[in-house]
Amino acid sequence: MSWPRTEIWTAEVVYTGFGTPMLRGGIAVQGGVVVGQGPLEELQARFPQGQVVRKGRALLPPPVNAHTHLDLSLLSLYRGPFTGFLPHVVAHRGLRGLEGAKRGLEELQASGVGAFGDIVFRDEVMDFLLRESPLPGVAFYEVFAPEPSEAEEVFARVRGKLAAWRRREGRVRVGLAPHAPYSVSPPLLRKLAQYAQAEGIPLMIHAAESLEEVRFLKGGEGPFLEVYRRLAQTPWRPPGLTPIRHLHALGVLGPQTLLVHGVQVDEEEVQLIAETGAKVILCPRSNENLEVGEAPLLLYARHGVELALGTDSRASSPDLDVKGEALHLWDKADPRLLVRALTRGGYRALGLPTPRLARGTPAALVHSL
Ligand SMILES: [Zn+2]
Repeated sequence: MSWPRTEIWTAEVVYTGFGTPMLRGGIAVQGGVVVGQGPLEELQARFPQGQVVRKGRALLPPPVNAHTHLDLSLLSLYRGPFTGFLPHVVAHRGLRGLEGAKRGLEELQASGVGAFGDIVFRDEVMDFLLRESPLPGVAFYEVFAPEPSEAEEVFARVRGKLAAWRRREGRVRVGLAPHAPYSVSPPLLRKLAQYAQAEGIPLMIHAAESLEEVRFLKGGEGPFLEVYRRLAQTPWRPPGLTPIRHLHALGVLGPQTLLVHGVQVDEEEVQLIAETGAKVILCPRSNENLEVGEAPLLLYARHGVELALGTDSRASSPDLDVKGEALHLWDKADPRLLVRALTRGGYRALGLPTPRLARGTPAALVHSL
């Protein structure tokens, strides 16, 4: 009788879901099961007959797509200035909904993710995800309400819906997503943040994405002002602050807050994010398609901000495979940081444990990039 052959899988970065991602690491596999992990030299000493097999850029646990809009999966991809993006989504709103969400969830599953964070715009999509999602994750109910005089009324409605959905939580949990600091009135933002913190509800908000957003909040000018005037009656009184400072002043930043994009930030704001324990979800391919710039990865790394990655929707990203986001940034940052963001950063953002690749784990759970 002969022992099953041992292979020692290795890649530029190897991450087992615990400890730090390794640059010269490996995972030993025998008969379809992990039998060891650690530095490559140690594994070669332990398994002298083991055959070393290179497996691409990285080996990792199932990645996390921390920011999707599954209900936009039937929309065509938009490429161009950010100011044209929201009109693109509005013009195709007939395609937005349950059918798109079903298609998106299938694509997400096929991409091999271990968990997801989705922005939910319609009640029927929340019902669907709570009832049928085979993947764990958080479904963040989106609130879009710029008119400040409606804050109380909208808040009461949102709280009622969330209370009902939270009784049905299982594999998918319920979160709250005030859309952005320019599309939710300051009094409502404050109330939603207080409510989420008191109830332990995760909060996701698009923030510091475009320069137009900064102009609107700081000086009350630019193309967002025209949009605001169409949607709200009360004249806009700009807070005179950049997006992250504005959110901080309203009490929105905290350990349960997930900021999506975080492109338009300075070092002081990155520090503020780090101090409050808020996390940042980067969507680099969407940022490129919408021409908003690049998030300052090195600044985030220097201040120890927890990062995750998301594809954003099919309206601004070519697919829902979050591995594409890490590959897009591969030469721009320490690849260990990207592998961590793809896995542990994403699981932590969603309040889930990171799966571990250790002795006894089926080799099928070892993903490669
Ligand atoms: Zn988004």
